[in-house]
Amino acid sequence: MNAMKMKKEIMFAAAVLAIIGLLVASRSLEDASFKPNRVRIATGGPSGVYFKYGEALAGIIGDRTKSDVTVIPSGGSVENVRLLRENRAELAFVQNDIMTYAYDGADIFSADGPFKDFSAVAGLYPEACQIVARSDVKDIHDLKSRKVSIGDKGSGTELNAIQILSAYGMSETDIDADNLSFGASVTALREGKIDAFFCTAGVPTPAVSELAASGEIRILGIGAAHIASITGRYPYYSRHTIPAGVYPNLSDEIETVAVRAALVASNRISADDVFVITKLLFENKDDIAAICEEANGLDRESAVNGIPIPLHAGAEKFYFGK
Ligand code: GLU
Repeated sequence: MNAMKMKKEIMFAAAVLAIIGLLVASRSLEDASFKPNRVRIATGGPSGVYFKYGEALAGIIGDRTKSDVTVIPSGGSVENVRLLRENRAELAFVQNDIMTYAYDGADIFSADGPFKDFSAVAGLYPEACQIVARSDVKDIHDLKSRKVSIGDKGSGTELNAIQILSAYGMSETDIDADNLSFGASVTALREGKIDAFFCTAGVPTPAVSELAASGEIRILGIGAAHIASITGRYPYYSRHTIPAGVYPNLSDEIETVAVRAALVASNRISADDVFVITKLLFENKDDIAAICEEANGLDRESAVNGIPIPLHAGAEKFYFGK
């Protein structure tokens, strides 16, 4: 090789290395500011939406920050707040009603006292209160004396079930209540071991889709008067329509109530780190939605509206630049 050619090749190699260096540097600009070497995301049961959303988000944060990001399966919102409180999770999916009760130390959290050491990252999507029943159960009144799962232990679903039943003049003692995850409820309903189950989750919920595809089921609607009584008594619910066709074989729309799912963070995580997490969530919305379609509902406006607890300083910086 002559000297001229060699010089050209060295220059070319140097240029390639410089470009690679720039790419690596620009990519790790974001990473460099991210301090936690471990992020644990408290989710829900594997047949729910929290788990799927959490897995997609964990993949993104882990990939971009090179941190060790894990998903914790759980009973749902109530357990997730406890995981945050006990420093066993850094991020969590929580219903807006449950997060308020936890923050204020009210209702199911009255024995725990107020827990203020967490804050909101983003409001995510509505969670419909779905009462999935065998097709011979026509109405919520028909649940009397039937075997019904009111949600997993540690779920927000359980509280929703109790509040909805109370609007119908019933309590858990009027039904033969059980605490099953969504996945276990599907199996139990198929095997005839339960007649119905409550499921507060984004629509479509994987467990409900699975069941609707393979058999005769019904989602029990809530009548207008009962919706008014629930939303009047509890401010976290809103009227919600499950559109026709979101589940196989269910061709009518269904009127019910919904709460909202939010991503929350422990205040032990710095504002800079939560800023990175919020940014990654929004920048990768489409990739997350490819795995979990509820992520299509993510937008800057609804992410900050109707959040009953303070926003995390890092999320605030992302939304409002301060
Ligand atoms: N919102 C439910 C609960 O806290 C969990 C929903 C899900 O797993 O997607 O009970």
